[in-house]
Order: sequence, then structure tokens, then C-alpha cells
Amino acid sequence: MSVTESQILAALGKIPDPDKRQDIVSLGMIQGLVVKDGHIGFSIEVEAARGAHLEPLRKAAEKAVEALPGVLSVTAVLTAQKKDTAKAPPRAPGAGPAGGPNSPGGKQLVPGVKAIVAVASGKGGVGKSTTATNLALALAAKGLKVGMLDADIYGPSQPRMMGIAGRPHSPDGKTLTPMANYGVKCMSMGFLVPEDTPMIWRGPMVMGALEQMLRDVAWGELDVMIVDMPPGTGDAQLTMAQRVPLAGAVIVSTPQDIALLDARKGLNMFRKVDVPVLGIVENMSYHICSNCGHREEIFGHGGARKEAEKLGTPFLGEIPLHIAIRETSDGGTPIVVSQPDGEHAKAYRAIAEKVWAKVEAGLKSARAEGPRIVIQ
Ligand code: ADP
Repeated sequence: MSVTESQILAALGKIPDPDKRQDIVSLGMIQGLVVKDGHIGFSIEVEAARGAHLEPLRKAAEKAVEALPGVLSVTAVLTAQKKDTAKAPPRAPGAGPAGGPNSPGGKQLVPGVKAIVAVASGKGGVGKSTTATNLALALAAKGLKVGMLDADIYGPSQPRMMGIAGRPHSPDGKTLTPMANYGVKCMSMGFLVPEDTPMIWRGPMVMGALEQMLRDVAWGELDVMIVDMPPGTGDAQLTMAQRVPLAGAVIVSTPQDIALLDARKGLNMFRKVDVPVLGIVENMSYHICSNCGHREEIFGHGGARKEAEKLGTPFLGEIPLHIAIRETSDGGTPIVVSQPDGEHAKAYRAIAEKVWAKVEAGLKSARAEGPRIVIQ
């Protein structure tokens, strides 16, 4: 027999809030309960100031649910209760300005960050995270102050790709210090929950976690923040594109993905919420044999460039399918930092140049307070 919501709530209802007289269910602290084939996820909403000392409460809640028959895994996260419970209104299509995310008219979620750029894809497995990581590192190599937010909450891969282990600290109990490696500050749900934990989140919970990672992390002053988006173009992605103040989006796609029109869905999603698409990157574009150097167009390369032209979107560049890219990105030593003089690093740096030029143009036009120039 699989476990039911009411059994879970009954178990959680026996846990008292250590600072209050009631249990955590009666206090309305349990949010976003998800039950899926014996895997349970929920958040415990607490006042931000209490977050730091409530880890034992989170653990106790997980343990209580784990003890129920039929439960395979439990993921409980503490999320900060918002003072203002009203949701920020989504940015209406056509409302702009998307030129500067924390610019006039944009939201001040992360005031020290000049521009936030999403790296997105129409579906999973196209190399979005690899591209996001190498792009962030290439921007840092230009001397920019760069942060990376792993918003791929369903399958966070940045801790592994950036070669960062451990947990972020919170010196004041209110904000988290981001993790960092290779000169890039990094924050990921993967630092907060172990990698093998099944990630079952519902939309509101995902947004809560994401907004917290933007708002409650001491990012400091950054020129640009790269957001590794969850793959796909569903509701969660759309909400994210609306609620995170984005300067623009980079779409990563493979040649076959282009053929299947998945990339086009990604493009349309950002257009719907008035976020400028900075361009398309064709990943796994062609294959170079590591033995003989022979170049092979396995998937019929070049589709992205043509598709970008057709859609009136810039083409940012192509990255070959190469074992060195896979080994370095999966090994926590991305190719831009481990083989900075190689061809692949050069290709990523060229893409970074184009992206930065577009972001800068957007920032300038936002500062000028004139009519917004859509950078496309
Ligand atoms: P996504 O974020 O789209 O799911 P990842 O970046 O995690 O995709 O990439 C999926 C797999 O493909 C990873 O093992 C990664 O190392 C590998 N990969 C990505 N880009 C390339 C490339 N250009 N050449 C070789 N392997 C790649």
C-alpha cells in the first residue's frame, strides 16, 4: 500500500515547532507536499530569521515521514516565509524593460547584480549545463565578476561540473555565502540536498527555492549572473522566465534538437514573457575524431545557424561533440579552465564575447532611459 497525504500530515502533526506551542501542521508550515510512488517532498516554511537554527526540525520531519510504511525517500527543505505573501505580478508581455534586470522597472531581487542571463534548452541532455558552466568561466576569464545560479532544480549538475563539494555557510543566519571555484561564485540546490536525492518539487516550491537562492545569497557585486535553467518549456520554466529578472536568454540546442523544433519552443517561451533571446548555440555540432582529427558531421551540422536566421535570432556559435568536453565537464574541470589554450575553450570564449556584447548593449540602453532597444 502506498502512503497517503493524510498519513504524512498525521505524522508531521506530531512534531512541535520548538519555538511555539503548536505542531508544524497546525501552524500551516507544511507547504507543497508531493507524494510520488513512495517518494515524498515538502517544504517547511519558517520565518527567515529562524531558518538557521531549525535544521534539527527539518531532520525530525524527514525522519517522522521516513518511518511510515511504503516510504522510499523523503526530501524536506526549509523555505523562508515571505513577509509579503502576495505574489509579485508577472511581467506582462510587452511591458519590458528586459535590458537590465535590476535596472529601472526591473525587480531588485539581487541589487548588486548588473545582468542575469538564462541558459536554456528545449529539452534535457543537449549540453545546457556544460555550456552554462563554460560560458560563465569564459566570461570570468575576460575579467568580469561572474556568478552562476543552478536553477536546474530537478537535476542540479553545477556542483559536479564546477568541482565544488560541501555546503554553503551562513555567517549571519540570514544569508548564505555562495560557494566558489575558478573565480566564479556558484549556488545550486545540489549544495543543499545530496545529489542522489530524488527531486520532486511542485511549481511553488521550485519558485520559493529559486527566489531564495537569488535573494538570500550574498552574491555581492556581479557584472553578470548565468542561470542554468531547468530543461524544457513547461509551466515551471515559464514561471521562472517571468519571475527572475532576466536580461536575456541563450538557447542551447543540438542539430537534431533543431530538426525537432524543440529549440523553437524555447525561443517562443522567452518571447512570450518579453525576455530577449541573445542567440542560439549549436552544441555537439560536429565530431572530431580524437585519433585522426577527422571531422564528421554526424547530425548534419549547421541547422542551428539556418534556423536562427529564419527566426531572426543571432547565431552565437558552435561547439563540437568531443570527449574532452565531456570528460572535463563531468570531472569538475571545465575545458575553458583546464585547457584554456585549446580550440574548444576558444570557441566558448568567442560565444562569451558575443553574449557579453549583447548584454552590455542592453544595459546601456536601459541606462539611457530612452525607448528600449530589443537586442536581437
Ligand atoms: P543538459 O544540461 O542539457 O542536460 P549536460 O550539460 O548535463 O546537458 O550534458 C549532458 C552530457 O553531455 C554530459 O555528460 C556532458 O558532459 C556531455 N556533453 C555536453 N556537451 C558536450 C560536447 N560538446 N561534447 C561532448 N560531450 C558533451
